[in-house]
Amino acid sequence: MRSPIDHLSSRFAIDPAPLETVAARYPVRISPHYLSLIQEPGDPIWLQCVPDPRELDDDQLPDPLDEERLSPVPGLIHRYPDRVVWLVSNDCAVFCRFCMRKRRLGQPLPEPRESREAVLGYIASRPEIRDVILSGGDPLMLSDAELEAILSALRGIPHVELIRIGSRLPVTLPQRITPHLCAILKKYHPLYLNTHFNHPLEITPQAAQACALLADAGIPLGNQTVLLKGVNDDPATMTLLMQRLLAIRVRPYYLHQMDLVQGTGHFRTSVACGVGIMAALRGHTSGLANPYYVIDLPGGKGKVPLLPETVRREGGGLVITTYTGEVVEFEDI
Ligand SMILES: *Cc1c(COP(=O)(O)O)cnc(C)c1O
Ligand code: SF4
Repeated sequence: MRSPIDHLSSRFAIDPAPLETVAARYPVRISPHYLSLIQEPGDPIWLQCVPDPRELDDDQLPDPLDEERLSPVPGLIHRYPDRVVWLVSNDCAVFCRFCMRKRRLGQPLPEPRESREAVLGYIASRPEIRDVILSGGDPLMLSDAELEAILSALRGIPHVELIRIGSRLPVTLPQRITPHLCAILKKYHPLYLNTHFNHPLEITPQAAQACALLADAGIPLGNQTVLLKGVNDDPATMTLLMQRLLAIRVRPYYLHQMDLVQGTGHFRTSVACGVGIMAALRGHTSGLANPYYVIDLPGGKGKVPLLPETVRREGGGLVITTYTGEVVEFEDI
């Protein structure tokens, strides 16, 4: 098969050389489905998946969230008291240019069987872990058999109440969501899946069908969006995205401020931009369409939600600004 860069350079008559230079440092992968969504150079799909020379002159840190330091065994991140993130794959259908785990993409994982046993042993020995989040890369890049081995091993640990999967494949490789996969997943409830749509153009009939199969298997679906300059950093695009997600039974969960990850600086927006988007959502459309806007603080200090300022204390009461900008006094006790 032709490489995505060859495909793009012949389809849009662009010089492949600068893209190849970036690809030598940060690998490129674009699934045929995602490639087919590109309409023109620089559009919101293009920006997310086509390498950009600006990736190479960004000197932020590769791992600002200190995930490697918070890793008690390789592949596991234990930052919060009752839940862990397990990086079960370094593979994705598209290598997103803004990925927070850009440092790992396409790298081989350590010997999978041994490292899986170490992770499972750690989780089994910590009764406080009640929520396990499978992430990566993309967990659904594993085969059905590998995935089922992981799920059934986790279900063998009595204190693991919740299993969550973070996967972008409903967006980037929707044909991976098969009835067979859903039949496996539904055996391990309560199982939640957070997917990752960033733009309304990604909500294709195929993606909608993938989400329908998952929802029909009883899997509560959430969405994590990354706030990306030039892609979705305006209230109209974000409102449409959130509304269209609800229409395919996907509940917006987080809107992420860009992490300060090396090679991704050109996607950063101001925090004021994110807060402005939240103000445009709240009250103006369904409450269900409002994600939490979060900053994942450097150094592994955790995710902190940010909201537009609506309340201040004055005398014995509160002065509250409504979504329309009206200022109302509210008596407090
Ligand atoms: C985001 C994250 C979680 C999950 O956080 P929730 O707010 O429960 O969704 C857990 N561990 C790490 C390291 C994370 O980054
Ligand atoms: S799918 Fe997720 S893990 Fe994979 S490259 Fe994109 S953002 Fe990163």
